[in-house]
Amino acid sequence: MRVTTIKGREIDMKQDTFDALKMRLRGPVFLPGDIGYEESRTLWNAMINRKPAAVARCLGTADVIACVQFAHERDILLCIKGGGHNIAGLASADGALMLDMALMRGVWVDPQRKVAHAQAGCLLGDVDRETQLHGLAAVLGFVSLTGIAGLTLGGGFGYLTKRWGWTADNLVGMDVVTAETQLVRASSDENADLFWGLRGGGGNFGVVTGIDYMLYPVGPEVVGGLVAWPASEGPKVLNLYRTLAEQAPPELTLVALMRLAPPAPWLPKDVHGKPIVAMLACYSGSVEEGEKAVAPIKSFGKPIGDVLVRRPYTQMQSLLDATQPKGRRNYQKSEYLPRIEPALCEKVMEHAARIRSPHSSVVLFQIEGALNQLKEEHSPVGNRDARYVLNIVGSWEQAGEDAVNVEWARNAWKDMKSFSTGGTYINFLTEDESPERIEAALGKGVKRLAEVKAKWDPYNVFRTNRNIKPA
Ligand SMILES: Cc1cc2nc3c(=O)[nH]c(=O)nc-3n(C[C@H](O)[C@H](O)[C@H](O)COP(=O)(O)OP(=O)(O)OC[C@H]3O[C@@H](n4cnc5c(N)ncnc54)[C@H](O)[C@@H]3O)c2cc1C
Repeated sequence: MRVTTIKGREIDMKQDTFDALKMRLRGPVFLPGDIGYEESRTLWNAMINRKPAAVARCLGTADVIACVQFAHERDILLCIKGGGHNIAGLASADGALMLDMALMRGVWVDPQRKVAHAQAGCLLGDVDRETQLHGLAAVLGFVSLTGIAGLTLGGGFGYLTKRWGWTADNLVGMDVVTAETQLVRASSDENADLFWGLRGGGGNFGVVTGIDYMLYPVGPEVVGGLVAWPASEGPKVLNLYRTLAEQAPPELTLVALMRLAPPAPWLPKDVHGKPIVAMLACYSGSVEEGEKAVAPIKSFGKPIGDVLVRRPYTQMQSLLDATQPKGRRNYQKSEYLPRIEPALCEKVMEHAARIRSPHSSVVLFQIEGALNQLKEEHSPVGNRDARYVLNIVGSWEQAGEDAVNVEWARNAWKDMKSFSTGGTYINFLTEDESPERIEAALGKGVKRLAEVKAKWDPYNVFRTNRNIKPA
């Protein structure tokens, strides 16, 4: 079988080489053709179609160490899969040994210390479900099927970001298996340089096996959901979004989006497939205050649908899941914005009107607040001047439609990138991004990241990521 070496050379290896790995692991090892192989190797973004030589579904830290050791002994490239949601497909590589963390999904909550320990294969929903038993929540993202590891290692933002900052700003520590196959702790007290690098530097420094999140009182109910209007109301609704977001308290996160109406039961059948503008809101404080805070949205104009109500926080966290299934083709362009300008709103409407697929959208997320209060060098996630995220999301089903959808997203981005802070979110970058864009995402931390890399992974064993070359 064809196997890729750590430095990227393709070599032939006997298939039974992996028998030795099977003997060392508690979890299963899948080779091409085995049941389980396809499920592991396929990613959220169907544009990426890579075939690892073997997949090891690790059942614990000892399995992870055995895999890193095995790959080192046989000079096999490693790749690591968390939730498999990275749009650039960084979790997979042709000919590599894939460490699929999908069996490591335990979560332990310490309600007194307000800390959750989550195994690195968890999806966001796993953490929310356990922490909400105690009325607590970690700062995570908007779609519950996303992996915690990739999201956290790249920064992470969601409905709680305005109050507490990036996901990576809200960590107690991480457990990491290094290139030397040591299990180490990274926190502000232990291996602080590694801890710094992990909070934005991705999977460059080792295999993360566990993450300890700071928790905050949230829920069990919040006020959240969506209100939608016909796209003809776009100018007024985006103006409302701009003014409300400017005054919104930290508890209220507002997202504006334009797309074709999905066939959702809360939208009348006659608007399905027609252009709409919608506002997604979540008030994470008391429900009484929340209802007052969202009243101007609910009473605005003549909505065609309104599901902005009291609901369990866990439901809020999975509200968008159905719109983001695994297996579609996806391409997006994203920028951080310092503010929402009226001229930008015009562009959003112009490009939303040219959308080529029923699953595509143009989205504005508000993230400003706590993250802006920390210094740029606090962690490599940086971008402390970011107040909104613009995401131009192309999503479609057939390979024959790739060109028109990619072109739509790229054209919209070219026309709107002048509104950017100059920074962009590393976790939203596609496969074809230039090194300059990756530097723009990592900001001023690049040099220090290379030093941390040189200390913890001098031979660049962990390279199937936004790779940082050792200094
Ligand atoms: C539908 C959807 C919704 C999203 N929503 C949000 C959002 O609300 N907020 C947000 O901030 N981002 C969001 N994202 C972006 C998301 O943060 C990234 O896609 C992220 O990479 C997903 O993490 P993952 O574990 O699923 O990724 P994977 O594709 O599994 O991995 C991504 C990278 O992390 C590395 N990695 C994974 N696990 C480990 C580990 N244990 N140790 C070391 N390295 C590891 C991989 O090797 C790879 O390089 C969303 C993405 C999608 C597709």
